[in-house]
Amino acid sequence: MGRKYNFSAGPAMVPLEVLERAQKEMSDWNGSGMSVMEMSHRGREYMSIAQKAEADLREILSIPDNYKVLFLQGGASSQFSMVPMNLLSQAGEAVDYVNTGAWSKKAIAEAAHYADVNVVASSEESNFSDIPAFDSWKRNPDAKYFHYTPNETIGGVEFHWIPEVGDVPLVADMSSTILSRPLDVSKFAVIYAGAQKNMGPAGLTLVIIREDLIAEPIAGTPAMFSYATHAKNDSMYNTPPTYAWYLAGLVFQWIKEKGGLSAMAKINQRKAQKLYDAIEASNFYSSPVAPSCRSWMNVPFTLANPDLDGDFLAQAAQQGLLNLKGHRSVGGMRASIYNAMPEAGVDALVSFMQEFEKENA
Ligand SMILES: *Cc1c(COP(=O)(O)O)cnc(C)c1O
Repeated sequence: MGRKYNFSAGPAMVPLEVLERAQKEMSDWNGSGMSVMEMSHRGREYMSIAQKAEADLREILSIPDNYKVLFLQGGASSQFSMVPMNLLSQAGEAVDYVNTGAWSKKAIAEAAHYADVNVVASSEESNFSDIPAFDSWKRNPDAKYFHYTPNETIGGVEFHWIPEVGDVPLVADMSSTILSRPLDVSKFAVIYAGAQKNMGPAGLTLVIIREDLIAEPIAGTPAMFSYATHAKNDSMYNTPPTYAWYLAGLVFQWIKEKGGLSAMAKINQRKAQKLYDAIEASNFYSSPVAPSCRSWMNVPFTLANPDLDGDFLAQAAQQGLLNLKGHRSVGGMRASIYNAMPEAGVDALVSFMQEFEKENA
């Protein structure tokens, strides 16, 4: 049985070339006589793997020298608390968040344990189908930081612009959009992302942080939740997620070989456009998201008759198009089309949608 097109939101597809290379190196990495997962994280072989991964990531994202890259565990969800614990000088300080979806909401709830959270704007009333207009945001110019979610994985709402927040440090949960296109890292104070959407397997969480923001965390913060701990120890304070770090490194190499992030952006935009065009061209399918903020990575869509949802999913799966069921808060379908989803997968989905419409409209 060949590989299928997996539209899961995460863990999600990994490029076949990466999987095949990992398979080749599985039991004996580069003549070392060891699998990468068996290596000491402090050994010469693993250090070279770890350093190359970071160097490749720095190259593809053009990360400035005054930023630290941390390879952590705990998922993006841990960052929801690590960000306030580390960026506040003391508990109770004021921070700004914009609420554009389910992940923003979780980040806000977690920050509220440590900070005085000001929600500058929210699109919850429109079931997170839009981004509130920037000039309506009630920002606090003295906030300790400003947090947003550039791509809401569940709602399929994406910022195609970077909020201009002046001197307030800008923090972004980029879990489902990092590496989808070029990014000006210098605009950000902290960028964090779980790996399992667009960088590799679950278990690795990437944090990119401007060095001058790495300070003593608020009182009571565990060592494992301190950026300073991990920065001082080059992400090896304790055993890092070695195998996931290695696999992410293979994904970074794959991106470089494909022409880097501008090449990724071209393909991703084209893939998304094909899908949105197909949805727009029909009265059978529709997108719940405002056109200006439709995600390149996660494309929710609904069928005019939800009674057909089950048939749609079953027949799609028969054709090798997997995991298209939408999140229950949105309903309908969701196609997650990260870097590793081949354009042919999107073409196959569009053909299937047209066929299904013809038979059921
Ligand atoms: C998946 C996701 C998360 C949660 O990531 P975990 O690694 O499961 O903690 C947080 N934010 C966004 C935007 C996500 O897509």
